[in-house]
Amino acid sequence: MLKTAANLQNLGTETAFDVLARAARLDQARRAKGEAPVINLGIGQPDFPTPAHIVETAVKALRDGHHGYTPAQGIPALREAVAADLNARHSVEVDPERVVVVPGGKPTMFFAILMFGEPGAEIIYPDPGFPIYRSAIEYSGAKAVPLPLLEENAFAFRADDVIARMTERTRLVIVNSPANPTGGVTPAEEMDKLAAALAERPDVAILSDEIYSTMLYDGREHRSILSYPALKDQAIMLDGWSKRYAMTGWRLGYAVWPEALVESVVRLCVNDHSCVNAPTQFAGIAALEGPQDAVQEMLTAFDARRRVILERLNALPGFRCVEPGGAFYAFPNIEGTGLTAKQAQDRLLEEAGVAAIAGPSFGVHAEGYLRFSYANSTENIEEAMTRIGALLETL
Ligand code: PLP
Repeated sequence: MLKTAANLQNLGTETAFDVLARAARLDQARRAKGEAPVINLGIGQPDFPTPAHIVETAVKALRDGHHGYTPAQGIPALREAVAADLNARHSVEVDPERVVVVPGGKPTMFFAILMFGEPGAEIIYPDPGFPIYRSAIEYSGAKAVPLPLLEENAFAFRADDVIARMTERTRLVIVNSPANPTGGVTPAEEMDKLAAALAERPDVAILSDEIYSTMLYDGREHRSILSYPALKDQAIMLDGWSKRYAMTGWRLGYAVWPEALVESVVRLCVNDHSCVNAPTQFAGIAALEGPQDAVQEMLTAFDARRRVILERLNALPGFRCVEPGGAFYAFPNIEGTGLTAKQAQDRLLEEAGVAAIAGPSFGVHAEGYLRFSYANSTENIEEAMTRIGALLETL
């Protein structure tokens, strides 16, 4: 019998990947029987291809011989492009030396949590929220302190709720806006209030997951954690290319770190993956510096789908859905159907051929909800809602 480390048991997962695999198997079975394919509203990734000029840049980088290791922190030109993009979007000056490029959004959260988490420490994280936060906190041995996000507050977090959970043992606070799985957007005033409270606690770091910061609707605005100079030595700002440029499979992300932590995080990179593959980093420069029309077109499409799914979800018996302000998720309350979230997830998939994800995959405060990703065609969204409506009639 092998003896693995005890904390391996504490590692959670992201159910979206299991649902994706189940949906794929069921899809094959349905097609073999001549039934309509599964409509996947489970996985959170844009259904658009990566814009062509980005792909071409990566191909050219390979042809030009960029086959080797790069600096672990990321190619300087890429880090400079990130700093310029942050300046353009958030009107902030960022030293490219504080930018650390990693394979996707996830490594930043894992590294940040491992840096601060250990037995005796506490880390506050959004619930419902991206499941990797809790998983990594528990793996680190720290106490995971959920910050409940409420439907009645359109799933924005409230600074007072964060502050109320802070203790002497708090080492790290994680926030995410626009949010997965709810599409919730936290207003600037709440960010201001939280920033002011954190400035009084220089021993507490904040990880602000801003991976959906370009995906906001109806004129909503994003307030980056980078806009608070007082938090310069505490704030870790996570962002990346996956969602904004439809690049989930490329594995490219970054964070802006407090200066004092850069050396440690680069060491973690050297220990873990050495560097992001070189052609992807060149693609990342092309994405940031090239034309943004494709990004705008995707956003316009997501917004149109958002309106469709919101209206159709609210018309389903037993469903009610608050308006998501960002990202590409809707998070309806389904208590009125009489089904638990898991029952609804399973029946939607098996009987209606629609993949969605049960709320409890995202936290202990998410029973009674389902996550739908509307990164799918309007036609598929309409068809999925029709199928769910028909299933609910039979309950
Ligand atoms: N942060 C949030 C809130 C996410 O929803 C996701 C992906 O779904 C990530 C980070 C991870 O992104 P990546 O695929 O770039 O690792």
